[in-house]
Amino acid sequence: MELPATADVVIIGGGVMGTSTAYHLALKDCRDVLLLERDSLFGTGATGKCAGGIRHQFGTEINVRLSLLSLPMLDRFEEELDQPIDLRYCGYLFLLTDEEDVEVFRGNVAMQHRLGVETQWLEPDGIAAVAPLLDLEGVLAGTFHNREGLADPSSVVQGYVSGARRLGATLLNDVEVMGVRIEGGRVQGVVTDRGEIATPVVVNAAGPWAAEVGRVAGVDIPIVPVRRQIAVTTPLPEIPPDFPFIIDFARSLYFHREGPAVLTGMSNPDEIVGFNQSVDPDWELTHLEAAIKRLPILEKAGIASRWAGLYENSPDAHPILGRIPEVEGFYCIGGFSGHGFQHGPACGLLLAEEILDGAAHTLDISPLDLARFHEGRVIVEYNVV
Ligand SMILES: Cc1cc2nc3c(=O)[nH]c(=O)nc-3n(C[C@H](O)[C@H](O)[C@H](O)COP(=O)(O)OP(=O)(O)OC[C@H]3O[C@@H](n4cnc5c(N)ncnc54)[C@H](O)[C@@H]3O)c2cc1C
Repeated sequence: MELPATADVVIIGGGVMGTSTAYHLALKDCRDVLLLERDSLFGTGATGKCAGGIRHQFGTEINVRLSLLSLPMLDRFEEELDQPIDLRYCGYLFLLTDEEDVEVFRGNVAMQHRLGVETQWLEPDGIAAVAPLLDLEGVLAGTFHNREGLADPSSVVQGYVSGARRLGATLLNDVEVMGVRIEGGRVQGVVTDRGEIATPVVVNAAGPWAAEVGRVAGVDIPIVPVRRQIAVTTPLPEIPPDFPFIIDFARSLYFHREGPAVLTGMSNPDEIVGFNQSVDPDWELTHLEAAIKRLPILEKAGIASRWAGLYENSPDAHPILGRIPEVEGFYCIGGFSGHGFQHGPACGLLLAEEILDGAAHTLDISPLDLARFHEGRVIVEYNVV
């Protein structure tokens, strides 16, 4: 397709954030939206590598509030966008093995209750009842919420792509943005490998690559890529259909049912910042040893597939969402730090409000502005996996 010469809004990046923003802009009658994705498919960045988990169990009010807005949007997704997303409420179970984590989680659960999120506090026998296949050695307590679980990230992206197109937005593949043209402190357009487009509004939705896009606009966006990897086992008929999404918190180790098998991941605390997306076999060994200890039945399975993807980490594990004051017309939706998929629906809506109405009003997103890093307002999230 021919590249348009102008657009009211140009969005850089076709993951969950960019496509949700495109859809919500178009839904609010801003139809002259152009999304540019450099890959030949949408959703192949962090979104396509994601584990698909959706939860309310976070450690800060703003993250819980984003979930309270976003999860009902996933509930309505199929009806609204005519796209099934394989939504499954299998529940999220956190296992706590450190005294310090137990204390922090007690406070977090109290905060979640205050916001109307009915997370359950479990002692080890209660955990065994929810997930009898686990070896609970060292587990002091746990938290469980049954209205949490999984959705399919690629289907969510596809739903937003089709929905935005139906409303008149243009979403293109194989176009790389190389520069953002700025004059007099205002966005004037973007420079791509297929030509220039004049626009007064540019959205940086480049996920782990957001700092690079910031750089071409002359703005320091503190988002760094960090490799995270996943393995999926061969089928394990013993895994029950109601097997929850389980997180062994201190180890950053997680499992969930994936079809007839188990998907498992574990975050390497020593992983260095960088764009490397090859699977590290040494880390996979460490990961699988820890996984078998916690879920011994894994010993019976082989590994059917494996991959690595990139978290898009910000300094306080919260997104940078909204206008970038240094450059008028430049917006950012990034830095979700490994838990952004579930907030994609809400954040696309909130950014569309910020662009079209001057400020997000469904939820106050001012705590998520870029300036917080210079003004000592960081809001550290504890529940990062
Ligand atoms: C292993 C793993 C597990 C995860 N598990 C979960 C989970 O269980 N639950 C959860 O909520 N989140 C999870 N996440 C995090 C989640 O995937 C991300 O927070 C979310 O997908 C970020 O979406 P995005 O649209 O910002 O980025 P992306 O999906 O990376 O999209 C950015 C897009 O921008 C494009 N792009 C970059 N630069 C340019 C350019 N110059 N021109 C044009 N296009 C460009 C890229 O090609 C890419 O497609 C996980 C992530 C990983 C890696």
